[in-house]
Amino acid sequence: MKPHDIIVIGAGIVGVSTALALQMKGRSVCILDRSGVAAEASRGNAGAFAFADIIPLATPGIMRKAPKWLLDPMGPLSIPPAYALKIAPWMLRFWRASWADRYGAAVTAQADLMALSRSALVRQIAATKGADLIRQDGQLELYEGERAFRAGQAGWAQRRAHGIAATPLQSPEAIAAIQKGLHRRFTHAMFTPDWMSTTDPRVWTDHLAQQFCQGGGVIAQADVRSVAQNGDIVTLTTANDPIHAKNVVIAAGAWSHHLAATMGDRIPLETERGYNTTLPAGAFDLRTQLTFGGHGFVVTKIGDGVRVGGAVELGGLKRAPTYKRADILLRKAAQFLPELNTNGGAQWMGFRPSMPDSLPVIGRSARCDKVHYAFGHGHLGLTQAAGTAEIIAALVTHTVAPILTSPYAPTRF
Ligand SMILES: Cc1cc2nc3c(=O)[nH]c(=O)nc-3n(C[C@H](O)[C@H](O)[C@H](O)COP(=O)(O)OP(=O)(O)OC[C@H]3O[C@@H](n4cnc5c(N)ncnc54)[C@H](O)[C@@H]3O)c2cc1C
Repeated sequence: MKPHDIIVIGAGIVGVSTALALQMKGRSVCILDRSGVAAEASRGNAGAFAFADIIPLATPGIMRKAPKWLLDPMGPLSIPPAYALKIAPWMLRFWRASWADRYGAAVTAQADLMALSRSALVRQIAATKGADLIRQDGQLELYEGERAFRAGQAGWAQRRAHGIAATPLQSPEAIAAIQKGLHRRFTHAMFTPDWMSTTDPRVWTDHLAQQFCQGGGVIAQADVRSVAQNGDIVTLTTANDPIHAKNVVIAAGAWSHHLAATMGDRIPLETERGYNTTLPAGAFDLRTQLTFGGHGFVVTKIGDGVRVGGAVELGGLKRAPTYKRADILLRKAAQFLPELNTNGGAQWMGFRPSMPDSLPVIGRSARCDKVHYAFGHGHLGLTQAAGTAEIIAALVTHTVAPILTSPYAPTRF
């Protein structure tokens, strides 16, 4: 059979955005997914285009805080004991990424990708007529007391240096002018007015997929087992017949490293499992995204309902979900928002595809020059999908990438 021009593996937000960007460059693209559009992390996330989040998770001093979080059963971080040894090499790299030199470079790389992603999203919204699915309601990052607020200011100074607008609020009354109904323990906040979100991440990904199909793109079901390049042709092994392509993009989220390994590329991708509960319409009159950074969760508006979620569980791809983590977050949200109606919620767990330095993998495979990688966006895949798509579209079509790509190189470890 004639080889495809370009195959993208993965129909999450990164794969669909990438396929669309390649199609807009006049290329013929087929997306393969074992399940369908937005079947995994892109389905149930918090829906935030978190352009202000340029600070990597691996910040200096984070390893001193981690044991406290791990010992707190209500805390934002958990590692199932049976997975502790497996995750150790990734944690070591995470720790190394928190050293001052690498951390500083990661902030700059993250800020560059965010700036590109923001403008790329505006282009994507216009090109796909998707404005009805986007909100610009801003975000409140909340602090309990002046000490916590002051401790956060170094990060905000870095954000401001990268052009991110943020307004300090220093009383419960000032916070209430933006969002009513918060417990008075939240005395301080930073408000980022430019923060955007989608009305629903699944609906947004579906919308982009529909636009891709209307433009002549194909989305097919296939579970890809391995990837190999012979000469200029890439062969994908699946449960059925092998599939051939001239170019392949791997955008398979938290499973991408397994496919990379079949070509001999070793990439330290792990999953940070996250949890949430989506409450029906009327649960709370939410006016902006609420971020409880000290507790590792956010409250966002999804459709007419409210989604409460976050947490990090370093537990791998195979073990069953621990939904008590979603219960814990919902209980905390009820304390922080006394008028929140917690009835009727639906729980969800998703696999964030996470690199130890919080930067995604965007670039060409070291072993197969016809294979590109677009994965590992951790907490920010929705936010950075449009920017990632423009970079990959440039690399595959041999045009100049819109930003320097070396910080995201698959070979950086
Ligand atoms: C609780 C939670 C909240 C979050 N909130 C936000 C947020 O507010 N903003 C934000 O920017 N990010 C957020 N994220 C992160 C975001 O969801 C992810 O970074 C993003 O969805 C990753 O997209 P992806 O396309 O790379 O992967 P996925 O959406 O996981 O898609 C990967 C696709 O690849 C397919 N696949 C995998 N292996 C194969 C194979 N071998 N063959 C064929 N198909 C395969 C899967 O079926 C899947 O459809 C959150 C994540 C979680 C868990």
